[in-house]
Amino acid sequence: MEFSVISEIFEKMEKTTKRIELTNILVELLEETPKKLIPNVVYLIQGIIRPNFEGVELGIAEKLAIRAISKSVGLPVKKIEVDYEEGGDLGITASNMIKLKTQTTFTTEKITVERVYDTLFKISKLEGKGSQDLKMKYISSLLNDATPLEGKFVLKILLGTLRLGIAENTVMDALAIAFTGKKENREHIENAYNVSSDLGKVSLIVATDGIDEIKKFRISLFSPVRPMLADRIQSEKDVIKKMPEQFAAEYKLDGERVQIHKKNDTIILFSRSLENITQYYPDIVDNIGKLLKTDNGVFEAEIVPINENTGEFLPFQELMHRRRKHKLDEAVSQYPITVNFFDVLYYDKNDCLDSPYSERRKILERLVDESNFAKLIPMLLVKNENEVEDFLENSINAGCEGLMLKTLDSPYRAGTRGSNWLKLKREYRNELGDSLDLVVIGAYFGKGRRTGLYGTLLLASYNPEEDNFPSICKVGTGFTDESLDQLYQILSNKVTIKKNSRVMSEMEADVWFEPELVLEIVASEITLSPIHKTGLNLIRKGSGFALRFPKFTGKIRYEKAVEDSSTGEEVLTLYNRQTKINQEA
Ligand code: ATP
Repeated sequence: MEFSVISEIFEKMEKTTKRIELTNILVELLEETPKKLIPNVVYLIQGIIRPNFEGVELGIAEKLAIRAISKSVGLPVKKIEVDYEEGGDLGITASNMIKLKTQTTFTTEKITVERVYDTLFKISKLEGKGSQDLKMKYISSLLNDATPLEGKFVLKILLGTLRLGIAENTVMDALAIAFTGKKENREHIENAYNVSSDLGKVSLIVATDGIDEIKKFRISLFSPVRPMLADRIQSEKDVIKKMPEQFAAEYKLDGERVQIHKKNDTIILFSRSLENITQYYPDIVDNIGKLLKTDNGVFEAEIVPINENTGEFLPFQELMHRRRKHKLDEAVSQYPITVNFFDVLYYDKNDCLDSPYSERRKILERLVDESNFAKLIPMLLVKNENEVEDFLENSINAGCEGLMLKTLDSPYRAGTRGSNWLKLKREYRNELGDSLDLVVIGAYFGKGRRTGLYGTLLLASYNPEEDNFPSICKVGTGFTDESLDQLYQILSNKVTIKKNSRVMSEMEADVWFEPELVLEIVASEITLSPIHKTGLNLIRKGSGFALRFPKFTGKIRYEKAVEDSSTGEEVLTLYNRQTKINQEA
């Protein structure tokens, strides 16, 4: 398949934001694609080459890309930099440069999807000495044979800046229409995606074996299941209103969620956002196998740092000392953890996803051999407000955040947030009623004691419809000297020359960042703002939401992908609640 087919379709997609139109274009592309290439095309339209959980990253720096363009078209680096500086898009710069070259030479060989994909894959595998040169060679050789349009998209994929605005939902709609003729079949495709997190794998099955095979799709080891999530609830009273007569209450521990996959001696760990985090927890890899009484299994647990002498839970942030490549051994012994199990999704060829909670809990109790290192999260069957209140007190006294409340007959609903699980936190009772998880998009240099650091940060929410990050507030309080230092270390590696195209902000910042870091923020009030873009037009035309007196809680939410941060809709809910409380007062 020629890469020009894909490039032309990408070009069409870039020009529209209408979901129906995008779906139609995608259906056309899928129908034209040879079946064996379907997964490759499905990955490429999302700007990736393997499912995210495999952690295959192209990681091409702008500088390297500029050198590769220069080598391929025979023009000086400076000329390319000037074009990029003017236009702000390196893909378009590549296209402009190839246009200049093709005025004097002819392209030799047509590039195919297979070739582009294989080259990208090879590039992703290169590391160590000499890898930069090899990467440059591969890129410039592709660009040599590329048309201007092809060059533009090769570059965008390499840099991770391809934004076709295609949500996973749109891809699933298109797969259903293209290969089953019915959009309604998307539900089965989505189920398969939710239990595998691999749209490429699912798309190949739909395309070659049809929807009946997809209906039979089951969880498999080392392919992470998208997590089941909980709705928020305000009070014990509301819990009783929403829950059936009897239900389970579990402590809500404040740590890092982990999905543990075990096959004999092999242990792989996935985070809440399905990143492979095995490398950070060698102690789990070494110890957990023998504490799980099954050869194969998929389990869910919360990793919590502890004080080994007293057995007390420590703040969640302590886990961040594990997020390093060097001297990890030291961090492992200095920051011990416990693994607290709350679910089982698979064991010994048994898929447990459709089993009710009560049964899964029994299996879990049977399979986990409790020790100081591995424990079951405390659970109690409850019926009334008093019992919930009482268990909530116990949980807070044990150093937990609150309770998770779970219906006994509910299956594990992968990838969904719903009312079969509710979360009740103590802190919900004050001010805004909840904290927000916001993305750092920019910063302002500090003064006085904060000179040389970022004194104030510009934050954004996530807009899932547009796949972008609209601004919501600046935050300058809640930082300790240590956290300011730490944030500077992290953020100074994320600086971009220009504002990222997914960042929506009218405010100017001293520096802009790749939207990659999520912070937990509390505030006293949500106000309407003519400047900020979160929830634009939801309440009043031309206004978005802003936060009054925002404050950093001290929690960097490393485990959250930026796409998991708070949305305009969530802010709207808090805003409406605040308005209601004000009216009642
Ligand atoms: P939060 O911001 O409250 O951490 P979240 O968006 O990360 O929430 P939620 O589904 O809203 O995810 O809350 C559930 C999270 O709480 C889980 O992801 C898990 O990490 C943690 N957790 C702690 N204890 C439990 C438990 N007993 N059962 C399920 N999840 C638990």
